[in-house]
Amino acid sequence: MITNQHAFLLDMDGVIYRDDHIIPGAERLIELFQEKDIPFLFLTNNSSPTPEDLAVKLKHLGFKNLSARHFYTSALNTADFLWETHPNCTAYVLGEAGLSNALQEAKIPNDSISPHYVVVGEGNPSMDKITKAHELLERGARLVVTNPDCWCPSGGNKTRPGAGALAAFLQTSTGQRPYYLGKPNPYMFTRAQKKLSSSYSQPRECIMIGDTMETDIRGAVEIGMQAYLVLTGSTSIGELGDYVFQPTRVLGSVADLIEEIETGKQSDRLNSPAFQPPPKLEGVIKKKRYATA
Ligand SMILES: [Mg+2]
Repeated sequence: MITNQHAFLLDMDGVIYRDDHIIPGAERLIELFQEKDIPFLFLTNNSSPTPEDLAVKLKHLGFKNLSARHFYTSALNTADFLWETHPNCTAYVLGEAGLSNALQEAKIPNDSISPHYVVVGEGNPSMDKITKAHELLERGARLVVTNPDCWCPSGGNKTRPGAGALAAFLQTSTGQRPYYLGKPNPYMFTRAQKKLSSSYSQPRECIMIGDTMETDIRGAVEIGMQAYLVLTGSTSIGELGDYVFQPTRVLGSVADLIEEIETGKQSDRLNSPAFQPPPKLEGVIKKKRYATA
């Protein structure tokens, strides 16, 4: 049962919104977290936007009282990792403002001559920039990637190539194996928990809510965190049987949590089918890829 002794990490796309539309109940859930003093942090593998960008986006969608401190992106995670593991390093960046700003704030200079790292994030770099990255990797820079997602949703049923796809390109051209930050890397979850815990004094049990098995659920399970899967995004109930790891609970949507938080009584319709007979897989088109955020 959810109490104010819990804290939440929430994925965004497919969990609280989809295609720039709020998923019904998401706005009320965030309000409830704020009313009941339940700490929460949005955790996204999208390295393009800054936390300020994300706060503005959610404000336009209709969420209230959110600010940059409510967001932790794979770009921030990458900057934290480099700052912590290699002080005074330099980086050549293929990415958007969210990544450049995060590295700048971590005092990691941009270096196009002899960087320690080529850092790849989400975005659409030119072939000239990709060629430059290739040359720097050939000369000894190491390949770090903000997140492993090979594709990202881009509205409607469309997708675009993700950071993982660009990393695979550079891995093929240089033979260098990338190191991936973001979900499901445990470093993403431990740093997010650390950031979240600065907002409360007593220990709380953290719960991850996400829609993608390979990133949200896998990362939480592997770090020993409860993982709630919502079926409003990239995963259907029929696909659950494809995975060795399973969510703690499966929710139709985040709206399923509202009654439980309001009444304080655990709902019995939120139990994971992992503990029930396996779902029928006939007729299910299995997706082998996964998406950002
Ligand atoms: Mg998602």
